[in-house]
Amino acid sequence: MANNAAKPQFAHIPHPAPTSDADRAAVLANPGFGTQFTDHMVTVDWKEGEGWHNATVGPRQPIPLDPAASVLHYAQEIFEGLKAYRHPDGSTALFRPEQNAQRFNRSADRLAMPNIPEDMFLAAIDALLEVDGNWIPDGAGASLYLRPFMFADEAFLGVRPAKSYKFIVIASPAGNYFKSGAPAVSIWVSSDYTRAAPGGTGAAKCGGNYAASLVPQAEAIERGYDQVVFLDAVERKWIEELGGMNLFFVFDDGRVVTPPLSGTILPGITRDSLIDLLREEGLNVVEERYSIDQWQADAESGKLVECFACGTAAVVTPVGRVVGRDRDFTVGSGGPGQITGKLKAKLTGIQRGEVEDTHDWVRRV
Ligand SMILES: *Cc1c(COP(=O)(O)O)cnc(C)c1O
Repeated sequence: MANNAAKPQFAHIPHPAPTSDADRAAVLANPGFGTQFTDHMVTVDWKEGEGWHNATVGPRQPIPLDPAASVLHYAQEIFEGLKAYRHPDGSTALFRPEQNAQRFNRSADRLAMPNIPEDMFLAAIDALLEVDGNWIPDGAGASLYLRPFMFADEAFLGVRPAKSYKFIVIASPAGNYFKSGAPAVSIWVSSDYTRAAPGGTGAAKCGGNYAASLVPQAEAIERGYDQVVFLDAVERKWIEELGGMNLFFVFDDGRVVTPPLSGTILPGITRDSLIDLLREEGLNVVEERYSIDQWQADAESGKLVECFACGTAAVVTPVGRVVGRDRDFTVGSGGPGQITGKLKAKLTGIQRGEVEDTHDWVRRV
């Protein structure tokens, strides 16, 4: 991105009582996922007629909200998720953050919310990292997870797009996403629920999609599986994605299939990057519908050798066992496959500054 335009400025209000070095070190030694937060947050307000204003990086604190705020009633809310990495040379790096900015605005369009200029989205992240950069853990697989989000805060119960919004960025030190550190996840195929229908919000990163996925996800956990996989809403046949991850299928003839961006799945940045990396490895990646019956047949015949899910939080996660009503099968060895492992190493290597970034994906902060 061109950097010659004036960089958006953020008023800086330092935290009156920041976390001590010792307490922060204790958090960073074992960060978990999504439970610990840095000292600051970025907030920017938007109002009809006024646009974006009040850009501030200040102490992380509760947000005053009118009980009639429309997000609480009609769920105008979108979010993003990206990670900041500590590179071996001590610098801080982001992975394709402009893609998050662009997707955020596509989500905003779908939810009838205002766009935020890409340079403001990126400057907000920079501003937060400037004050909380010392919260980036440097353990294996660790990073500082950044969560930009926007919601409607107008106090109004009528049903129409709100006239005021808040954009916020918070940060949370993160270790490995899957607590167990299990080598492969087991998956439950939901036959009672779908995630997104054609014409719906499946391609937008909005909280509502997640709210609708919680019951099927809980069902998977209750039955003893890690994740739920959703089928398409029309034919209940085509594989779409996990709750928050895209899927890839690797065949013994060098073909790799991933479901197409048909509007009902989330266009993952990890997905997009892995398509490039797989093609560089000489694999033949096709974006094509793949059915649950075919998945089972190919796993049982041995044609399908590996399957993995991907997303920013969990990076690349092998899928082992797949269970649904009237089906139970295992992909490959049931553990991490060779291509999956190689791919994960390459992607995380690029993100962490340990493998050369030939795609210009990494942005130093
Ligand atoms: C965020 C998300 C993904 C993964 O996207 P990345 O850009 O790779 O992190 C996949 N599916 C859903 C539903 C998501 O919300």
